[in-house]
Amino acid sequence: MSTPQTCSCGTFSIGVCQDCGKLVCRDHSRLEGGQRICDSCIQERRSRDQAAQEAAHDAAHQAVIAEMRAIADPIERLLRIAWYQENFEGLADDWHTVCPEYSPDGWDSVAVGRWFAVRAIDQGIPTRAERIGIKRPLSTMFGNRAKYNVGPEIRSWSFRSRQQHKNWPGVILSDGSVVQLRQGQADYTATSDRDYTIVESITPARLDMNALILMAEALGLTVDRPGLRRIQHPFVYGVIRGPRG
Ligand SMILES: [Zn+2]
Ligand SMILES: [Zn+2]
Repeated sequence: MSTPQTCSCGTFSIGVCQDCGKLVCRDHSRLEGGQRICDSCIQERRSRDQAAQEAAHDAAHQAVIAEMRAIADPIERLLRIAWYQENFEGLADDWHTVCPEYSPDGWDSVAVGRWFAVRAIDQGIPTRAERIGIKRPLSTMFGNRAKYNVGPEIRSWSFRSRQQHKNWPGVILSDGSVVQLRQGQADYTATSDRDYTIVESITPARLDMNALILMAEALGLTVDRPGLRRIQHPFVYGVIRGPRG
């Protein structure tokens, strides 16, 4: 009896697996990068690739965490870990490892705001100009909208993300205070000030997680490294995401 040129399933083989040398039919093999490979060797290649990716990610991740941890400034570490966790897969205790001074639910917004202002000025990150509006008595004769006299200019950094759901509603004033500016329903009687938004009230605000992430991005406190696995964010259009925790 001659040696049957068949796959283990009994079908005539069409080739030889380039990994294990078994004869294979078309149903139980595939071309992988120009080589015919049997089903079980394809499985093996997949799990080897996965293990290699896992190891590469772990190594890159450990290196990044160690670098961040070595930074002396706790607020720089805070911003870096906030940005990193938003963008890359990591471990549950990364935050505490990098930034034991602050918990992921709380930090000193006043201190962080001042810290940011100093660096943003240093790096020449442009501010936005707004004018404080001073409300004039409402005159029913001219409708219900409030009228404002244009007051002094204030300059601030505001953070608008490319992703709609990642905006932080506050701003940081050039002196580092963290505030929310409420825009007036301005009647622009002072036409020369069209470039300005009229601000009706300024109230203290808190830097939430999104603010930290956007601040880190603005200052370039970001990192990338081959092997790191990015977190895929589902794109939710038009939804404002609130602070975490
Ligand atoms: Zn077969
Ligand atoms: Zn094989």
